[in-house]
Amino acid sequence: MSKIIVITGASSGIGESSAKLLAKQGNTVVLGARRENRLEKITQDIKNDGGQASFRVTDVTVLSQVQALAQYALNTYGRIDVWINNAGLMPRSELIKGRVDEWDKMIDVNLKGTLYGIDSALPIMRKQSSGQIINIASVAGHATSIGSSVYSATKFGVRAISEALRKEEAAAKSNIRITVISPGAVKTELLDHVKDLETKQNLDAFYHAYAISSDRVAQAIAFAINMPDDTTMNEIVMRPTSQQ
Ligand code: NDP
Repeated sequence: MSKIIVITGASSGIGESSAKLLAKQGNTVVLGARRENRLEKITQDIKNDGGQASFRVTDVTVLSQVQALAQYALNTYGRIDVWINNAGLMPRSELIKGRVDEWDKMIDVNLKGTLYGIDSALPIMRKQSSGQIINIASVAGHATSIGSSVYSATKFGVRAISEALRKEEAAAKSNIRITVISPGAVKTELLDHVKDLETKQNLDAFYHAYAISSDRVAQAIAFAINMPDDTTMNEIVMRPTSQQ
């Protein structure tokens, strides 16, 4: 069945790959992120390929903008079947470096952005008595490593929020499915925001050795969406085959 799917952080990486794959599968995708030129190009690429897509510039740290993205999708297409909270940042560093601004940004985008997405999509899905919210966490939301403290805290948090939300929706018999996708190293622009030199060198080497294409994560997202409505993929944890 063709679905209306909203994706945050759709201007690159996992969000872009997911938008393209889901549109290719016959769904209508609504892209949100801050970089308008990127959103415009990806939307045009999808349309040139015969798919249905539109976009709205959205900063997920601003609740009114996330709500506006949801209203845009609802007003344009009449419903929201799937909402993917994908926007994220990973400027990792050891705590002793005191990069407080980066901690704040990760909490704002990864954690509060996800909550704002839920706040914007959930009431619409409750009215429809159907829907699916997919939150992108990480293997760093299962285990910490040196330099991952705040990023891991946001991703452990995304998993905690998702688990409680799944219980709430099951108890309410709302038919809303809650899914977490937790990838390992994926080749995207995520490392571009790592400003701590030592951390960046380590991560660059690690990603160079291991990272897989963002298409793989898009496939996992599509798999979770395409399961029959009576079944929820609670969480998909995935890594490059050679990543421990
Ligand atoms: P990218 O850097 O390629 O994509 C991140 C996306 O988030 C961009 O589209 C960016 O768009 C968007 N974004 C950042 N800040 C905001 C904001 N304030 N408002 C709206 N959008 C924002 O990285 P990935 O594709 O890798 O990241 C996607 C998700 O996957 C993230 O949640 C990340 O934590 C997670 N992840 C990634 C892994 C990896 O190894 N790559 C592994 C595990 C999880 P714009 O700048 O235009 O706003």
